[in-house]
Amino acid sequence: MSGYIGCVEVDAFAMLALKVPYQRVASVFFPGIDLWVRRDDLLDPLISGNKAYKLIPNLAEAGRRGLNHVVTCGGAWSNHIHATAAAGARFGVNVVGIIRGERSDSLSATLEDARRFGMDLCFVSRDQYRRRKLPCFLDEVGIDVNKTLFVPEGGANIWGVHGGRLLGRVVNQSSPVKFDQVWTACGTGTTFSGLAAGLQEGLLVGVEVLKAGTSISTDFSRWQCQMGRAADAAVRGGGRELRNFECSGVARSTLLNGFHCGGYAKRPEYLQKFQSDMEKETGLPLDPIYTSKLFLALSQCVMKGWVPRGSKVLVLHSGGLQGRRGYP
Ligand SMILES: *Cc1c(COP(=O)(O)O)cnc(C)c1O
Repeated sequence: MSGYIGCVEVDAFAMLALKVPYQRVASVFFPGIDLWVRRDDLLDPLISGNKAYKLIPNLAEAGRRGLNHVVTCGGAWSNHIHATAAAGARFGVNVVGIIRGERSDSLSATLEDARRFGMDLCFVSRDQYRRRKLPCFLDEVGIDVNKTLFVPEGGANIWGVHGGRLLGRVVNQSSPVKFDQVWTACGTGTTFSGLAAGLQEGLLVGVEVLKAGTSISTDFSRWQCQMGRAADAAVRGGGRELRNFECSGVARSTLLNGFHCGGYAKRPEYLQKFQSDMEKETGLPLDPIYTSKLFLALSQCVMKGWVPRGSKVLVLHSGGLQGRRGYP
């Protein structure tokens, strides 16, 4: 069973999110813990996973400002581009996708969908794309900021963070058991930052799927400040792979940076094998970029004894299954 997002109203969206199923998973890869998966991949057939949480508050904001144009950017297999295009079609919003790299003869399956959903695709060189976070970028690509809501790559703005916080609050309300740990995959860390503000209990663990350096932890602190929360970042474990955050009022949060498997979109054989073995054993579909690394990280931490025996652990399945088509 899957849900269907019918409008950009945040409260209605939250009602739908409360119905997303939790699945208890028994698997040889996670011995000694009580593992549950929250299936946000089933939230909506097209606007799936954590991208929906980040997009809905952005689209609601566009509505408040009276804007019917949204511009965003991403790569050829981007889940965010795919979800934004689908949301544009569903809610009658004009969307432009600024795509990294020159247009090639054949579009990726992701971009083919996006085009069919009605997204205008605008290809820019990798050089130009690198400037996407600078103020000059919008001017360069000809976007009028008075007429358009610009949503950064991955939905990484304060509205995206609000979406992550909403997910945390939904988890507080709908959890079938009291979780000791909640695990989530981090690309930009927007979802993680919001979760840290929304979750009431347990340790929040973020698994960085790319070599992010300090960018995720820096953004984390910035977002917490913007939400009026204090966050102190400190490195633990001899600088090895644990960064710990203490947040006033909540659940502690930790970022793991040792499980990127070589970098963003890198697929070493051991990761492919883990994904296919775990899918076969549990029947749970995983995406190649985020959730497969997330579960691999949890599995390795469990095997190393870093997760106390008997812990109730929730893994957030953040969707991204459309991206499987990029990895035959
Ligand atoms: C984008 C994405 C993430 C990462 O979300 P951030 O908020 O950018 O950290 C995780 N999982 C999936 C499936 C995604 O598509």
